[in-house]
Amino acid sequence: MPLTAPPADIVADSVFDQEWVTGLYKDLHQHPELSGAEEWTAIRIGLELRRFPDWEVTTGIGGHGITAVLRNGKGPTVLFRADFDGLPVAENTGVNYASTHSQLDSTGQRVPTMHACGHDAHTSSAFGALSIIDSTRDKWQGTVVFLFQPAEESSIGAHGMVTDGLRSIIPRPDVCLGQHVVPGPAGQVLSAPGPVLTSSTTLEITLFGRGAHASMPHRAVDPVVLAASVVMKLQTVVSRELPPGKFAVVTVASVEAGKANNVIPDTARLALSCRFYEEPMRARALDAIKRIVRSEAAAAGCEREPDFKFLGRLDATDNDANVFSLVRPHFDDFFGEDSLDMEPWTASEDFSVIPRAFGAPYLFWTVGITPRRQWNRAEQAGRLDIDIPTNHNPGFLPDLSTLPVTSKAAAVAVLGCLGHQWPDAPANWSVDTGVANGMDAKAVRRARVETSPAN
Ligand SMILES: [Zn+2]
Ligand SMILES: [Zn+2]
Repeated sequence: MPLTAPPADIVADSVFDQEWVTGLYKDLHQHPELSGAEEWTAIRIGLELRRFPDWEVTTGIGGHGITAVLRNGKGPTVLFRADFDGLPVAENTGVNYASTHSQLDSTGQRVPTMHACGHDAHTSSAFGALSIIDSTRDKWQGTVVFLFQPAEESSIGAHGMVTDGLRSIIPRPDVCLGQHVVPGPAGQVLSAPGPVLTSSTTLEITLFGRGAHASMPHRAVDPVVLAASVVMKLQTVVSRELPPGKFAVVTVASVEAGKANNVIPDTARLALSCRFYEEPMRARALDAIKRIVRSEAAAAGCEREPDFKFLGRLDATDNDANVFSLVRPHFDDFFGEDSLDMEPWTASEDFSVIPRAFGAPYLFWTVGITPRRQWNRAEQAGRLDIDIPTNHNPGFLPDLSTLPVTSKAAAVAVLGCLGHQWPDAPANWSVDTGVANGMDAKAVRRARVETSPAN
């Protein structure tokens, strides 16, 4: 059975409990938990799912991952994914539902936590969409999967769920959908075919010098000076080694060396985050990074080679052109002039690990969440980059008016995909496993860290 009405009409006629979604959002916002330590959040999601008794719920997948499946007759299977981890950021939004929560991180340090990437909005909106899909089931047929994913920020959550047997827990989706909130005029829904998010490579470099008394630098190979020189030289990778016009980011996001004012330490540690749209650029940049670090260490007189540890790698998020052509007209129908083209975003996501594990096409879109007045003021002053907090900034805060937008965008897209005839699964869909990516479900489960009581 096709849909009984266009997706935009089904959603427009549905009942949407904005107060409930906003309440859930605020509750999640006040209890942000770090990647892999989302114990309270997972329980909260599980409790909320009890309101929907017809959905088959599985918890504890790859750590704190959760799926909810509604089987509603013969038809396509559509998956919508929402992530739910927070970040080690001290919130300064000043709202009365701001986070004052803290947690022990993986090194045992207590850190303030914040939903600074909007994953609380993703999760509460997924519930908004789930409630619409649930209450309109006489208007569509098929199977819908809502997947709640932990540990997106550490890039291991999706891999963790796949390696922990996701493919035997839920039916194979014909298509996967996901969204992210971003700085931008509140309520704009942005979509595009092709690569929309970058690939990400995270690495840690250890430089081995020789420690000494701070008064005797001639007895040391100073890793602090070496690290400083490496950081500056790495700035030439993008500016001097890659073709102008090709996108690449090489960021040294962390430098650690030394603990005291009178000791030259013996090591320094750099953490790098690198982003690309094209694989050849990634290969060239990584070769250059290794060459520069090794040469600088040799020039400084290090006796031991620097150590390179690759901590994570995500592929680019590359939207399927057919899914885009199917969903976009429904967005245009429902959101009118607020349905716009998405510019590629330099952030990265592990969302695509899930569709890849099923050999399924996918669409990932973004929704603007900055209050319009604030956006317009900054735009007029030419201060968008300065005045509008980005994701991961202590001031990042979705306008509450956008929760219905993200909820309904998800519902419209899910319904649009339920109304479509999808091709059969490719014969080899189960070949691309998370295991091939070097992830081990047991390790993911062990990665839980101690949590502080929710306050
Ligand atoms: Zn993030
Ligand atoms: Zn995010």
